[in-house]
Amino acid sequence: MTTTTLSAKELVEKQRKFFRTGETKSVAYRIDALKRLRSGIETYQERILSALRADLNKSEGEGFYTEIRLVLGEIDYTLKSLEEWVLPRTVPTSDQIPDGTSKIHPEPYGVTLVIAPWNYPFQLAFSPIVGAISAGNTVVLKPSELTPTVSKISAELIREYFPEEFFAAMEGEVETSTELLREKFDYIFFTGSTQVGKVVMRAAAEHLTPTTLELGGKSPSIVHADANLKSAAQSIVRGKFLNAGQTCVAPDYLLVHEDVRDAFIEELRQEITNKHGEDVMQNPDFPHIVNGKNFDRLNAFLENGEKVIGGRSDREQLMIEPTLLQGITWDSPIMQEEIFGPILPMMTYTDLDEVIEKIVDRPKPLALYLFTRAQQVQDLVLNNVSFGGGCVNETLLHMSSHELPFGGVGDSGMGSYHGRQSFETFSHHKSMLVRNV
Ligand code: NAD
Repeated sequence: MTTTTLSAKELVEKQRKFFRTGETKSVAYRIDALKRLRSGIETYQERILSALRADLNKSEGEGFYTEIRLVLGEIDYTLKSLEEWVLPRTVPTSDQIPDGTSKIHPEPYGVTLVIAPWNYPFQLAFSPIVGAISAGNTVVLKPSELTPTVSKISAELIREYFPEEFFAAMEGEVETSTELLREKFDYIFFTGSTQVGKVVMRAAAEHLTPTTLELGGKSPSIVHADANLKSAAQSIVRGKFLNAGQTCVAPDYLLVHEDVRDAFIEELRQEITNKHGEDVMQNPDFPHIVNGKNFDRLNAFLENGEKVIGGRSDREQLMIEPTLLQGITWDSPIMQEEIFGPILPMMTYTDLDEVIEKIVDRPKPLALYLFTRAQQVQDLVLNNVSFGGGCVNETLLHMSSHELPFGGVGDSGMGSYHGRQSFETFSHHKSMLVRNV
């Protein structure tokens, strides 16, 4: 048995009792736990990579760079600065209290719950956990049941390296999540769909538990007339087809200036071939769609508009080739929900203001990517559209920086993490004024 044998209630009670001993508050304990996690990941690396291959057909390279390396990077970054982050911060005190000192003390919340999705099943479980541990909390992880091999390996790693009163995995389906959410946690960190995010927030409200919601949505990519088309095509192909489009911050749809449409389609075609081969259906390393249900949902989108590039699919292999669709409108079915697959619908525009209006009329995206060299165009989009975060002349890379807090806004989520922000997210900031009388 790799997962805990305790019920959610027993596990939370056990962790709460341990948290109250104060052990996790010591910086030495946190540093030791992070180092142990690092060494566990290194020992399990091959097994994690095989599990990613089994569940999603992720190649070893893609698995290492997008899952394992990001978590190891977060651990190393945290270990470098944790002793400084934990210190109380002195802030000015009002002149009216001349004998007063004001300090902000970061303190752990207590028992935390991390609920993870299936698309980056290792990274999105363990990255937030680095923050939870660094801030001195105990952790219960609920991995995704849709990637069962990664779920099992993650639970095994945790069980081998940590006592369950401090850090435990509870594997299972939705019922397990529901059982966990009935309990009173001190912090919940959820990554998943907007729809389930609402369920989590409702459950958290019962206990007034603070929550981070890392959700999804439709992230636009705008290619303006003055863009470097080759570079834009390279970034969009990289960002869209990584993990076969099953990436929360993948470019969901394209808005291309009418004047450069044809040239841009050719650049995309070229880049897809360069990156994924002449016949992607024969590429043994192109990731698969996670399950038949998602395959069928995506396959139906292939009937939207007109296929300009790609369009083939194979249900047996759960494979869909990189596909570009044109003849799409804002009312097409594919524009009504997050795609989460290797299908890229394209619309064209001549008036950027109209495009901005359309985006702003819809739920706030998790990411936005803009391709232009003009500062004026960058300012226009940045000042008028609210979204989680994004890039100009690039895709995805804002989320790989330890220095940039990552998260959504509105329907795409609330709260953020990565680097120091993970520590801050999992810490309560206790403000203290002390008078020296
Ligand atoms: P999901 O919401 O279906 O599931 C996420 C987790 O919630 C799983 O562990 C699942 O067991 C649990 N869950 C599912 N239904 C539940 C319910 N009714 N009650 C309680 N728990 C429940 O999401 P998913 O399909 O695993 O992931 C895809 C979604 O996640 C996409 O929308 C994507 O954009 C989003 N996502 C966001 C980020 C981000 O960082 N913002 C990252 C990855 C994925």
